[in-house]
Amino acid sequence: MRRNRRDKNRIREIAQERIAVLTHLARKRLEEGNAQLAKRYCQLARMIQLKHRVRLKKEMGLKYCKMCYIPWIFGKNVHVRNNSKTHCTEYACGCGYVKRYGYARGV
Ligand SMILES: [Zn+2]
Repeated sequence: MRRNRRDKNRIREIAQERIAVLTHLARKRLEEGNAQLAKRYCQLARMIQLKHRVRLKKEMGLKYCKMCYIPWIFGKNVHVRNNSKTHCTEYACGCGYVKRYGYARGV
């Protein structure tokens, strides 16, 4: 069965809703101290995002480590610093992964 554009948009809307719920749950679980479950929720959100080619809205606020899938809570498990040599803002996760953004963009 071929899907038309309206179906695709509807599917993407549902996907975004599910990602929003998973994001919320992931942050909640991490605050409660259950990091493993938080990682799993992040993984599921990522899988939904990739399958349906959904872009994350900024207000959803799912910032997570691409390596270990732990949700980032600024000032808690991620260190933010400005590197004047590379003109980048760096987000350093506890696992050693560093994400760099140019000064102009930010997160
Ligand atoms: Zn990490």
